[in-house]
Amino acid sequence: MNQKYDVVVIGAGIAGITTAIYLKRYGYHVLVIDKNYPGGQLNKIGFIENYPGFEQIKGPDFAFHLYEQAKRLEIPFLFSSVEKIETKAVKVIETSSDILYADCIVLATGRNPRKLGLELEEELLGRGISYCATCDGPFFKDKIVSVVGGGNSAIGEALYLSSLAKEVHIIHRRDFFRASKHLIQKIEKAPNIYIHYESSITSLEQTNGVLTSIKIEQKGINKVISTDGLFIYIGMDPVFINIDDSSIYDADGFLFVDENMETKRKGVYACGDAIKKEVYQLTTAVGEATTVAFSIHQAKQKNV
Ligand code: NAP
Repeated sequence: MNQKYDVVVIGAGIAGITTAIYLKRYGYHVLVIDKNYPGGQLNKIGFIENYPGFEQIKGPDFAFHLYEQAKRLEIPFLFSSVEKIETKAVKVIETSSDILYADCIVLATGRNPRKLGLELEEELLGRGISYCATCDGPFFKDKIVSVVGGGNSAIGEALYLSSLAKEVHIIHRRDFFRASKHLIQKIEKAPNIYIHYESSITSLEQTNGVLTSIKIEQKGINKVISTDGLFIYIGMDPVFINIDDSSIYDADGFLFVDENMETKRKGVYACGDAIKKEVYQLTTAVGEATTVAFSIHQAKQKNV
């Protein structure tokens, strides 16, 4: 696959696939690369209820429709890990399987879940610890689970888990949630959700390599909560790609872009959760992706 493309898009989440759909419809030779499966974070969302046109849609179903749409447009996908990028006039993208060339690249690399940093967190991954309720929730049917965090992800996924698990405990460090009011109202009504405000998890307890409980501290008082599953939703960190000009990233690893969604490297664009911005939503990712495609089209037409 040592080919030259007009545009190589890195990341097959909603931002990357939207960019590719627009570019393909403009008539460009475009490739999408992802080291995992298509859909990115969409695959990890139980229900989406704030994407216009869908009152409710499951995240993995949305991912499937996006991928199907791209495949119908005959957009090629390469499932391989990007190891290195050179950003000269012709961009060189080295993956674990191929070396590719492109006039432009689009970094739609998204974010990964943040870790709590507790002892046993890594060892118990898949044995009680999870960062994805949609993927692992069904293993906890009629069991007791806990969710840590107070943002839209934690509260949205706690709601999804409450439809499966016997009890859901939300552990949050503050006395209020930053999630949207609509979601908070729903969890307050759920009969099997128990909220532990001003609480932090101090340790994870296991038996035979499987999570059995968590210890929490609430205003100086220590408690133990029996827990079969702990779902960690304490925010996301951007994914870093090995690129020859790392100054396109800020100190936190986010990409800076101008109003055309171009980084300071000519022909290197970015969109979605990987960029520095105020609002991280599916709808904003789609808007940014559209701007990327439009900007690339304009630059190509002007031949700049
Ligand atoms: P987030 O909004 O950054 O929330 C992270 C939560 O984790 C906060 O409540 C934070 O507490 C807590 N937290 C952070 N570090 C912690 C630690 N070390 N220990 C314990 N708690 C910790 O992250 P998110 O919920 O993943 O959402 C990310 C972005 O995606 C947001 O912009 C969100 O609006 C968006 N999103 C939207 C939807 C939707 O529209 N349906 C769904 C999911 C995500 P504090 O509150 O004390 O800071």
